[in-house]
Amino acid sequence: MKYWILGMFGFAVATWVSTMFVTAPYGRHERKGWGPKLPSRLGWVLMESPAVIAFAAFYATGTHPLDVGSLALVAVWMAHYLQRTFVFPFLLRETGREIPVSIVALALVFNTYNAFINARWIASVGHYGVAWLYDPRFIVGVAIFVAGYAINRWSDRVLINLRAPGETGYKIPRGGLYEKITCPNYFGEFVEWCGWSLASWSPAGIAFALYTFANLAPRARSHHAWYREKFADYPAKRKAIIPWLF
Ligand code: NDP
Repeated sequence: MKYWILGMFGFAVATWVSTMFVTAPYGRHERKGWGPKLPSRLGWVLMESPAVIAFAAFYATGTHPLDVGSLALVAVWMAHYLQRTFVFPFLLRETGREIPVSIVALALVFNTYNAFINARWIASVGHYGVAWLYDPRFIVGVAIFVAGYAINRWSDRVLINLRAPGETGYKIPRGGLYEKITCPNYFGEFVEWCGWSLASWSPAGIAFALYTFANLAPRARSHHAWYREKFADYPAKRKAIIPWLF
């Protein structure tokens, strides 16, 4: 397991370096030259599904999957991934967007790998009995996760509601954390997985939180630069992903 987790840290560094130079070509950054494409909704379901299905399989075949603390951690994980895989794609406005198969394939590999290290950690390596439910690391970690989840869901909803049915363009999002940063949805996602790493007190969780930042911070920087280029009145004080800092 040690080497698998080290691999995820390596994956995070590689992702950070590559996405600082090449922005993943989906959404507003979609462009030609990335091979065949799939409808965006289908792409989301396919690429996120290992985080539900592979995670459940790796977890169920672990050595102590019936521990109460482990089951509580599964509930936390699934609260995010059931929504992301089977609800979020259907909330997106239908705009005819497509996503390259290569991006879907990369995300599928990543999600399977990540499901493996996190599920195996909580079902086989770590020990989370009933007492874990009263441990401050679990309680504070879950509270941080819930805060990140609320920020992520709220921010995604604001973006989706910017378009009326049939619209395809972009508008400046406003209100709440949008007054401080361009991508509160990415910030919320990062906060969630920081909470997860504390609640599971695991290097697998830390590796995932770090990967999330390595993947989303450069993308937030690209979104931020894109807004500033497209909208002359884009609020000058907003940062990209971390309020007041970055
Ligand atoms: P975006 O913020 O780029 O887009 C989300 C949706 O909102 C898209 O449908 C997009 O349309 C639409 N949208 C965005 N901005 C505007 C705007 N200004 N005006 C109108 N519509 C807008 O997010 P992503 O698609 O990159 O990510 C979606 C979710 O997935 C987020 O919650 C993110 O945290 C999560 N995610 C997590 C990752 C991880 O590493 N854990 C990796 C990637 C995403 P369009 O597609 O046309 O741009």
